[in-house]
Amino acid sequence: MYRHLYIFVILMTLAPFSAFASPQITLEDNISSYTDFNVEYLKEATEQSLGIEQISKIPFSKTINNKFAFGYKNNHFWFHFSVYNNSIEPKDMIVEFTEQFHKITDMYIIGDPIIHKKNGLAVPLKEREIKTSNPAFSLHLSAYEHKEIYIHIQTIYSLFGAIQLKTSEQFYRDNQSRTDEYIFYFGAMLGIALYNLFIFFYLRARVYLYYVGYVFVFILWTALYKGFLLPYIDIKVYNLLQVSIPIFFIFLILFTQSILKTKKQFPIIHKILNSSIIVSGISLVWMLISMHTGFLFMNLISTIMIPLLLILSFWAAYKNKTVAKVYLIALSIFILGMSIISLLALGLLPYSILLSNAPIIASSFEIILFSFLLAYRINLLSQKSFAAKRALVKQQKSEHKRLFHEVAEKTVALNRANRRLQEELEAKKVLEKKLKYQASTDPLTGIMNRRAFMDIFDKEMKNARLRKINLSCLIIDIDHFKKVNDSYGHHIGDKVIRIIAEKMAQHTRSMDKIGRIGGEEFAILMPNTEARTAYQIADRLRGYIEKDELTFENKTIKITVSIGLTHRKDGEADTQIVLQRADSALYEAKRNGRNRVCYL
Ligand code: GH3
Ligand code: MG
Ligand code: MG
Repeated sequence: MYRHLYIFVILMTLAPFSAFASPQITLEDNISSYTDFNVEYLKEATEQSLGIEQISKIPFSKTINNKFAFGYKNNHFWFHFSVYNNSIEPKDMIVEFTEQFHKITDMYIIGDPIIHKKNGLAVPLKEREIKTSNPAFSLHLSAYEHKEIYIHIQTIYSLFGAIQLKTSEQFYRDNQSRTDEYIFYFGAMLGIALYNLFIFFYLRARVYLYYVGYVFVFILWTALYKGFLLPYIDIKVYNLLQVSIPIFFIFLILFTQSILKTKKQFPIIHKILNSSIIVSGISLVWMLISMHTGFLFMNLISTIMIPLLLILSFWAAYKNKTVAKVYLIALSIFILGMSIISLLALGLLPYSILLSNAPIIASSFEIILFSFLLAYRINLLSQKSFAAKRALVKQQKSEHKRLFHEVAEKTVALNRANRRLQEELEAKKVLEKKLKYQASTDPLTGIMNRRAFMDIFDKEMKNARLRKINLSCLIIDIDHFKKVNDSYGHHIGDKVIRIIAEKMAQHTRSMDKIGRIGGEEFAILMPNTEARTAYQIADRLRGYIEKDELTFENKTIKITVSIGLTHRKDGEADTQIVLQRADSALYEAKRNGRNRVCYL
């Protein structure tokens, strides 16, 4: 009741001035776009709007530029202006409001009846007169026609935007070029996201996934903010999709944690960021339950989170990390964009389309810089792996060198050892030869000793038997040798023994084998020699010994020998038997007077 009285009083006092003061746009033939003019406005005090019938009767006391930012006001706002066609040509104009997110953006054309054109987020695209995301209304003016326009706006968010008037052609042209720009823009963003998604699948590093998530959510938010999703969703879904903001923050924090390696480098801040993720999650759920309060809570969280991220990146940049420096620049640009939109939303900055797009422009720069960071990261990784490879090759080389030296040293040592071994083997051979010689040689005469002779005898027996050849055997004993010793001394006896041995060697053949088998007793083996020949040789030897008188210390000594001769008989294999027979023959020779050869 009182309200009506109040309106009546205002009406009475201000009505005469209102029509007079109404800002007017005069249309000229050569102008297609009117983007700078004044409008009158009125802010209703009540939650329920009075409606056009009453509003159109109230004089508006305030004038404002067609671009305005009122802050978070959910009041009903009315804007009033008139359009006059100062031409004989009829004009098809379009009134456009540059922001699409206000719940109500209706237009009224005063006349009889008043024409009401509904628009705003609450009106689905297909129910609108002009099916563009920005609210737009057609306005036809005949020659020299004048029209009064009212625009009614009410929002659950901040109220800002601009009223523009364009010719129909100009409006559609601008709309088309804006759509083209956004298609290009979304294409580029999507390309960056897909490129990094591909890298994620290739490298399996989570930081790329966070980045891709961040970019996708950003694309979603931008599409939402710019009304690109309006043809596909209704206002409920539109409001619901505001949850993209906390998701956006969650991805930003995850990405930050990964790229700045906060877990390792800034453990305390890492934990705070972890709790920020949880709080963002809470505000997401809150928004699903109550969009309005959830949204305010999210705003509160972000005013804490953003400075935190800023401090972190300052700190990291201070630690002289290239990644952190670039991150700081990117984040600063993002914060600048967000601050501009916040100030705009709070009504602290004058509205312009550029400022309204500040978060999109800033975030794009941020996303591109982040992408550079990721590329830089790949570069770092490949540099690291290259350095590691180089170190490995170097290590391999030095190892190879070391091994080579070691092998060379070992080879030298081995060669030395080998040479020593060879020398030792040679010495051993010489020693063995010497030992063998000593073992088989009689030291007094230099001929075979008994043992060596017996070995040879065994071999010759076998040989004679296998090849069926003759083998003759002689035993030679110096006659009355005791007397030589007794008469001239033992040393003369030794000399005699040596001389007799020499004579035996002289008067036998090279194939004959001579051994000293006892004190003054010798034996001769004659291979391949029949008994007759052996006898002749033996007797000749005996003759030579008898004939040669030996002189020692002016003393002449006559030496004779007795020889026992035998011959291996057919089938005979035992050396001892043959030797015994030769011995018996020798005994016979002694018995028969000595100095003779006896055959048995
Ligand atoms: P027979 O005509 O019967 O052979 O008379 P014999 O004196 O030669 O007697 P027998 O063969 O029994 O004596 C061998 C002697 O030769 C005994 C020993 O004193 C002497 N004799 C053995 N070996 C050596 C030696 O290496 N050097 C010297 N000087 N005498 C030796
Ligand atoms: Mg004897
Ligand atoms: Mg004798």
